Amino acid sequence: MTSISRIRAHNPSPMTLDGTNTYVLRSEDGASALLIDPGPEMPDHRDAFLAEVGSARLAAIVLTHQHADHSEMLGSIDSWAPEVPVHAVLDCFARHVPTVSDGDEVRFGEGASDVVRVVTTPGHTADSISLAYGDVLFSGDTVLGQGTTVVTHPEGSLGDYLASLEKLLALVRSGEVTRIEPAHGPTIDDPAGVLEYYIAHRKERIAQVEAAFAQGARTAEDVRDVVYADVPENVKPAALQIVKAQLEYLGQPVD
Ligand SMILES: [Zn+2]
Repeated sequence: MTSISRIRAHNPSPMTLDGTNTYVLRSEDGASALLIDPGPEMPDHRDAFLAEVGSARLAAIVLTHQHADHSEMLGSIDSWAPEVPVHAVLDCFARHVPTVSDGDEVRFGEGASDVVRVVTTPGHTADSISLAYGDVLFSGDTVLGQGTTVVTHPEGSLGDYLASLEKLLALVRSGEVTRIEPAHGPTIDDPAGVLEYYIAHRKERIAQVEAAFAQGARTAEDVRDVVYADVPENVKPAALQIVKAQLEYLGQPVD
């Protein structure tokens, strides 16, 4: 029933893994399509996802969150999809339609299955959403195909993030979701295992931050130098923002 194509942008980096995944969903009758995360402003990437849409009518675009590696291509939308509605949490990205919230449905065809449901999953950023399509979940950056995602201060929230992971785990345990398609990296065929690992990993880091405090660390820099002692110099600023998100979660002064 489902027709899903993944088009990977050529923007690999430590944060984007092998690049941003754009998804094209095709309606049951093949006449229309939905686009998830148009990605970075790269003409070859735009040509690739428009070729995948082909002669179908592009019925809607959904943005999983604000980060530029997902949203930047919307800056030139007047040149490639001027009439197409853009569904997003933030007003500055929504176009031709109101902003979305939890449980909203975005329909892109006439068939019974031609619809995605918004599952709000704040944490990585406050505006992060996932999309349920049959038993497939598009997770944006909330869950990645490899490694773990980052929750930084002040745009993300660790408390929200842990709640979002539990929310997704409940969907998996109930059988509503059996597979995750992330915005970076490959398909996740063991969503329960990955989500349980994500939750355990976060809790382990939080325990390390608490231990650093018990040993006398007082500032975010102190904590980073204990918990993230082994990160390369160029990753230290990012590690500091992650530590600040952890301190906020623990109710400690951030600055
Ligand atoms: Zn992101």
